[in-house]
Amino acid sequence: MITKKNVVLLGPPGAGKGTLSEVLLKEEKLAHVSTGDIFRSEIGKGTELGKLAKSYMDSGKLVPDEVVADMVAAKLLSAECADGFLLDGFPRTIRQAELLEKALDQAGKKLDAVVLFDAPEELLIQRLTARLTCRKCGASFNKIFAKPKVEGVCDHCGGELYQRSDDSLETAKNRLAVYREQTFPLIEYYTGKSLLKKIDSSLPKAEGYAALRAILS
Ligand code: ADP
Ligand code: ZN
Repeated sequence: MITKKNVVLLGPPGAGKGTLSEVLLKEEKLAHVSTGDIFRSEIGKGTELGKLAKSYMDSGKLVPDEVVADMVAAKLLSAECADGFLLDGFPRTIRQAELLEKALDQAGKKLDAVVLFDAPEELLIQRLTARLTCRKCGASFNKIFAKPKVEGVCDHCGGELYQRSDDSLETAKNRLAVYREQTFPLIEYYTGKSLLKKIDSSLPKAEGYAALRAILS
C-alpha cells in the first residue's frame, strides 16, 4: 500500500516518469495527470487549445504557464483526482509551482511528495530519440531498450506506434536545455519544502519501480 497519493513527478524528458507511472497506475487507483498527454490529445482532436499548444511543442518550448495551470487546476477539482493524483510533467517552472499551490489550496488538497527522476544527459538523448509512442493510449516503448512485442504495434491496446515529432534529436536537445533553464530550479524549491525524494532513472525499470513504491509507501 502506498500512503503518499498526491504526488508530483519531476525530471527531464526521457527520465522515465511516464514509464514508471504506467506501472504504478496498474496497481494504484490514482489519476494520471500528464500535461503532455492532454496536449497531444487536444492536438489530435484539433481543438483551439491543441493548436496553441502545438505551436510551442513543435520547437520544444513550454506552453505558457497560465494555460497549463488552468488546465491542471480544473483536473484537480474533478472527481478523478479524489483518491490521489500523479502530476506528470507539471509544474515545469517556478511560476507553475506557485499556481499549483493556489489550485491545491482551492481544492483543499496538499502535496505528499515530489519525486525527482534523473539520469545522465547522453542516456536521456538516447532514450528520447529511440522512443515510440502509442497514438491511442499514449504508452511509450523504445526501439532499443523496450521493444514492443510486434513491431509498430502497442502491446497494451493494439494502437499504432509513432515517433513524436518533438523526439527528433534537435528538439530533444532543446527540451533538455529548457529543462535545465526553467525546470531545474524546482529542485531547490521543493527541497526547501521538504518534499523532494530522488530516483536514479538509469536503473532498470523493475528497480526504479521498487524505489518509487518505497518512496510513496
Ligand atoms: P517529455 O516529458 O517527454 O518532455 P511531455 O509529454 O511532458 O514530454 O511534454 C511535451 C511538450 O508539451 C513539452 O515540450 C511542452 O511543449 C508541453 N508541455 C507539457 N507539459 C507542460 C508544462 N507543464 N508547461 C509547459 N509546457 C508543457
Ligand atoms: Zn496503446
